[in-house]
Amino acid sequence: MGLSRFISFRLTLVLFALLLPLSALAQEWHPELTEQWEPVPAIVEPGTGTSAPSDAIVLFDGSNLDAWESVRGGNAGWVVAEGAMTVSAGVGDIRTRQQFRDVQLHIEWRTPAKVEGDGQGRGNSGVFFHEVYEVQVLDSYDNTTYPNGQAASVYKQHIPLVNASRGPGVWQVYDIVFSSPVFAGDGDLVRPAFVTVFHNGVLVQNHVEVKGDTAYIGLPEYIPHGAGSIKLQDHGNPTSYRNVWVREL
Ligand code: MG
Repeated sequence: MGLSRFISFRLTLVLFALLLPLSALAQEWHPELTEQWEPVPAIVEPGTGTSAPSDAIVLFDGSNLDAWESVRGGNAGWVVAEGAMTVSAGVGDIRTRQQFRDVQLHIEWRTPAKVEGDGQGRGNSGVFFHEVYEVQVLDSYDNTTYPNGQAASVYKQHIPLVNASRGPGVWQVYDIVFSSPVFAGDGDLVRPAFVTVFHNGVLVQNHVEVKGDTAYIGLPEYIPHGAGSIKLQDHGNPTSYRNVWVREL
């Protein structure tokens, strides 16, 4: 055997040695090996635009405020008419009687058709998780204010990615995924809250970290809590809500 033939023979052997285990490995893999059959997702009948999915808790279907109470105590005193509930200025914030942790919330809202005020004074309300983390509700259609306080902002923490506002007097939609903060037994923050917001179907907050309560004055801070209510804000403007439902996650 000449030298070059010997080298070529050795190379062939090496190649075989390398490829044999690979082909063996390929033969061991079957499609079934990466199929996961458990758990089987529960069946949910999706909503039809105005109706909630079958596993949702309906918080407001247009008929009454039974799921709500005043934060001052007693029944929620907002006005229910024509399938909507409307802030009754001065009556105060309302909150869900039921308490939640991680949720998917669907809520439709409408700022007054008659434009009054400007900046933060135009159709201001808000959706608060645990009563302290606000996704801002505001008439932000052709209305200048600080962007971390405009509609769909996480108030004074996160500017929305875009302004997807409809005009005053037109119904708008928030679909929100809220992951509650986790606190240790001694109150230390283990994991902050996160929130994702779609405004009229447009992604405006993409899993942003909530830095603490959405304070009007000062910096956010976390105060330990468990499950909590979802609160809607009376900011003195007659903003309306309808078709409110939540899914516990
Ligand atoms: Mg507000």
